[in-house]
Amino acid sequence: RFIVLEGIDGAGKTTQSKMLSKALSDRGMDVLGTRDPGGTKAAEDIRKILLGDNSPESAKTQALLFTAARMDNLEMNILPHLKNDGVVIMDRFLTSTISMQGYGAKFLAGEGSEDPIPFASQMVHLIADLPRHTFLIDLNPEAVKQRVGSREGQALDVFDRKPAAYHSVVREAMLREAKNFTEILTIIPGHEGPEAIHKMIMEELSDDKAF
Ligand code: C5P
Ligand code: MG
Repeated sequence: RFIVLEGIDGAGKTTQSKMLSKALSDRGMDVLGTRDPGGTKAAEDIRKILLGDNSPESAKTQALLFTAARMDNLEMNILPHLKNDGVVIMDRFLTSTISMQGYGAKFLAGEGSEDPIPFASQMVHLIADLPRHTFLIDLNPEAVKQRVGSREGQALDVFDRKPAAYHSVVREAMLREAKNFTEILTIIPGHEGPEAIHKMIMEELSDDKAF
């Protein structure tokens, strides 16, 4: 029972993964809430490299590091937890890589550069285990900017590091690609408030016989 939350920066994934972890724990499930990239000491260190000043410029090297972090979290945490019948709730997964290290990177590289999509596609295919259920929290970048701008300085910082058009490209890629990386996909309207979105996610899960 492997649940993934996807969406562009600032869409509300982290908020929802925390709410969902708590709700399922309260129902007595053995929940592992984790994030991608991250989740193990090594993967959190890789995350720091990727988000820090020394992040590699090469898009392929970045994609490899995202994949290395994911492999570590998968082998050390996620697969053992699933094997013990636990529930894993993951903040981002393969859809983020194809959309960001693939389509988003292509947009940033511009015309005349090598297409990063085939390499990103190889990266996602290195990971064999697919989530049972992916929730794509879909929100347009304009709405994200208004929302995070009024609340969290740091979230806006992350969002603003990339041009607005990048987030649109990633959003469209996620809407097209997410179904290829999960057994079940639910697209959630991200402009609703956190409680309403949480309720939608819980209702969808109650229809899934695996839960
Ligand atoms: O998941 P989170 O939003 O915390 O990710 C931190 C940063 O890493 C964000 O700027 C996000 O855009 C970026 N990221 C990425 N590719 C991924 C996952 C995250 O560029 N596959
Ligand atoms: Mg987040």
